[in-house]
Amino acid sequence: MSDKRKDYISWDEYFMGVAMLSGMRSKDPNTQVGACIVSKDNKILSMGYNGLPRGCSDDEFPWCREGDPLDNKYIYTAHSELNAILNYRGGSLENAKIYVTLFPCNECAKAIIQAGITTVVYDDDKYATSASVIASKRMFDAAGVRYYRYQRTGRKIEITL
Ligand SMILES: [Zn+2]
Repeated sequence: MSDKRKDYISWDEYFMGVAMLSGMRSKDPNTQVGACIVSKDNKILSMGYNGLPRGCSDDEFPWCREGDPLDNKYIYTAHSELNAILNYRGGSLENAKIYVTLFPCNECAKAIIQAGITTVVYDDDKYATSASVIASKRMFDAAGVRYYRYQRTGRKIEITL
């Protein structure tokens, strides 16, 4: 009998890795965020990254963060978590988990709760002191959504494309 391989990636590394890879699709010059939704039995259901809605050209819409509200990205872009939720056409996301590279904002928190997702695994929490993230945690706590920080393993994965 041969020994099984021991250097395979864990479920958490796999799903956070997919979330990170999804984030790399974002055209946002400042922030690339990715999300990966997973079923209770560890099947990937959906993925998303921050970007413009379908039909809205990456070259015609603004990516800047300041100035006239109609000339900055905030009013147009959809966050990775919302995109991952909306990209799923298979039915219910009840009891699913979402892996996300940045703690969800309050708008995404609402969508996560309403979609029935019950676990959030996040990596970065750099806006922890913002009203948006404080509100997210308050809503998650009230709605019984569990959230915990992904434990980085330091594993480096090189993929040649
Ligand atoms: Zn958001």
